[in-house]
Amino acid sequence: MRLVLPAALALALPGCAGAFRGPDTCMEIHFDATYALARWAGWPAEEALAIASADAWTDLHPDTTSVATERRLLAGLVIPVAIPWVLCAGTADVVAGDAGPGRAYGRRVAEATAWAVPATGHRLHFPAVGLRSPVLPAFYLNPVSGEIEYGSAEGRRVLERAFLDLQSHDEDLEATLALLGIGLHTLQDSIKHRGYTAAQGHIGAEPNPDSPCCDAGAAILSAEVTLNSLRYARRLVAGSSGRPPRRWREMIRRVFHDHGPSVEDAERRWADFVREQFQEDSPGRTGLLARWRESGGEEPFGRALQKVEDLLR
Ligand SMILES: [Zn+2]
Repeated sequence: MRLVLPAALALALPGCAGAFRGPDTCMEIHFDATYALARWAGWPAEEALAIASADAWTDLHPDTTSVATERRLLAGLVIPVAIPWVLCAGTADVVAGDAGPGRAYGRRVAEATAWAVPATGHRLHFPAVGLRSPVLPAFYLNPVSGEIEYGSAEGRRVLERAFLDLQSHDEDLEATLALLGIGLHTLQDSIKHRGYTAAQGHIGAEPNPDSPCCDAGAAILSAEVTLNSLRYARRLVAGSSGRPPRRWREMIRRVFHDHGPSVEDAERRWADFVREQFQEDSPGRTGLLARWRESGGEEPFGRALQKVEDLLR
């Protein structure tokens, strides 16, 4: 019973996003750090907010989320063999010593319900050639030279389309900024989801790869390539970009590492950081995201999504 409980809970708890991914720690990478990096790269506050919000929204929009809790729950319920299959296959994995119970049942839940998740959701968060191929990072740190190298092109496809649209001065700049945010999301996920597949996700993985504290090196690499992309994009629009402070990596690492026990702590920490760095009165993540939604940010996000769907078709 002790073994089957995590699987039963993962399939049975309505609305329990935590069963699928854990606390909302990835917002620190997708929203908070991205916003600060965009400001350093020279983007004005409003445009930095548009980019960071689209990055974060990629996890929340029903057509782009890979969590898709409600859809997965429904999938688990409509296929009568799903729950018994998860229990049997998960138990076999635990007995074979492949994984602990949380991960063993978690990945079987992901597998049994993957068909209910929109294809775009899988491809934006687990960029790879197929559902069962492990994710490879869009960029990686060469351990010998210490240089950042090109990795898998799958993790850069949306981002590169955003660069092209910026370069050609596409008249719908709002949608292009949203596209840039979505592209950064996939870039960042290609680094933190390295080695995981879309079919099995990372439900139940310990430590949670979405947490920036799970792998400090990966979190900083993600911040570095995000910053470089934002500076490149800014140059395409404005002819030049901003520079971060000399010790920016240590500063970002400290905010990540000073990891509070709750979502509210992280939100407060990042709001203080933004206030101190950019001398702007930040209402915090929730307030900024609400501001983006109230100003109609979801509309250009929808237009950018059209481009993503054409691109990934
Ligand atoms: Zn994601």
